Amino acid sequence: KSTDDAGKPRIDVAFDELDDELFGGGHLRRDQVLVDVAYTSLNYKDALLLAGRPGVSRADVLVPGIDVVGVVRESRTQNFVPGDRVVLNGAGLGETRHGGLAELCLVDDESLIHLPEAMSLVDGAAIGTAGYTAMLSVLALEKRVEPGDGDVLVTGAAGGVGSVAVALLAGLGYRVVASTGRGDQEGDYLRRLGAAEIIDRHELSDAVGKPLQTERWAGAVDAVGSTTLANVLAQTRREGIVTSCGLAQGTDLPTTVMPFILRGVTLRGINSVVQSVEVRAEAWNRLLELDSELLESMTEVIGLEEALDYAHPILDGKVRGRTVVRVRGD
Ligand code: NAP
Repeated sequence: KSTDDAGKPRIDVAFDELDDELFGGGHLRRDQVLVDVAYTSLNYKDALLLAGRPGVSRADVLVPGIDVVGVVRESRTQNFVPGDRVVLNGAGLGETRHGGLAELCLVDDESLIHLPEAMSLVDGAAIGTAGYTAMLSVLALEKRVEPGDGDVLVTGAAGGVGSVAVALLAGLGYRVVASTGRGDQEGDYLRRLGAAEIIDRHELSDAVGKPLQTERWAGAVDAVGSTTLANVLAQTRREGIVTSCGLAQGTDLPTTVMPFILRGVTLRGINSVVQSVEVRAEAWNRLLELDSELLESMTEVIGLEEALDYAHPILDGKVRGRTVVRVRGD
C-alpha cells in the first residue's frame, strides 16, 4: 500500500523477488510450518487484490493468494513433518499474512490440514477456496434438502464456486438448475458438469420481484448476493434453504422478512476463511467425491508470472471455472 501524489491511498502490484526474512529466514517459531508451494489458485478475492482494489489487503506489504497447496519443507509442530502434502485456504492468507503466490509460504499449524491421500496437488489447487466453499455450501444444504425434494439452484454457475457446486450437487443426485449470464456459450459446459437446466441470470438479477414469488427451489447455493439473492429467497419453497457465500453482483440484499416468516426459508451464511480444522478436514474429505475429469474440464493451469494478467478478466466475469497457478508443481 502506498499513496499517490495527491496523498490518496493506492495499491501497487508487482512481480518481484522477495527476501528470505519474509518466510522466517530459517528460524521458525513454535507451531509454524514452512511450505514449498506447489500450486495456488486465483479466486475472486485474489483478483480484487491483484487488480489493485482496496478492501482485501490489511497489510502494507503482502504476498497475495488465499490458497496454498504444497509440501512441508520445515516444521515446528508435531502435527506436520517435512514431506507432508498440505492445503490451507483462507485463515488470513493473502489478506493479513503472506499468501500462496510465492515459492514459499509460512503458516501456523492451527488451520493447516493434510491434503487427502488420494488427491493430487494440482486437484487440491483446482478445488481451492472456491471448491472448498462450494463443499461447505453443499454440507449445509444437504442437512435440509434431499435429492428427491425438488430443484436446487446454483447462481454464478460458470464461476469457480458455481462450477464446483453444480458438479458436486449433480454428483449427489440433485436436479441442478444453473443460473448464468454467459448465455448459450456456457450451456454445454454447465450441462457437462451436471446441470439439468440453464436459466439466464438476468431473470434473477435485473429487478427485485414480489416478496413472495412462485415456489421454484427446494434449495439454492448463491455466490452472487444483491437482487439475485433477494429473488432466490422469494422463490424458495416452504422450509427450503439458501446458502450465501458471495457478492459478485453486490453486497446489498433488498429483501423482506416474508420468505422467512411465511415459508420458513433458511438463509445460511458460508464463511470459508475462519473454520476449525475439523470442518476443513470434513469438507476436504468429502471433496474426494468430485469427479477428477470434471474438475480438470473446469480448470486452466497458468504460470506464476501470468497471474497478474488474469485479475481483470476474472473481475469482469470472463474467466470460467477455476484458474490454477503452477508455482513449484510439475
Ligand atoms: P468467480 O469465479 O469470479 O465467479 C463469480 C460468478 O458470479 C461469475 O462467473 C458470474 O457467473 C457471476 N457474476 C459476476 N458478476 C455478476 C453480476 N453483476 N450479476 C450476477 N452474477 C454475476 O468467483 P468465485 O471465486 O466463484 O467467487 C464467487 C463469489 O463468492 C465472490 O463474491 C467471492 O468473493 C465469494 N466467495 C466467498 C467465500 C466465503 O468464504 N464466503 C469463499 C469463496 C468465494 P456467470 O458467468 O455464470 O453468470
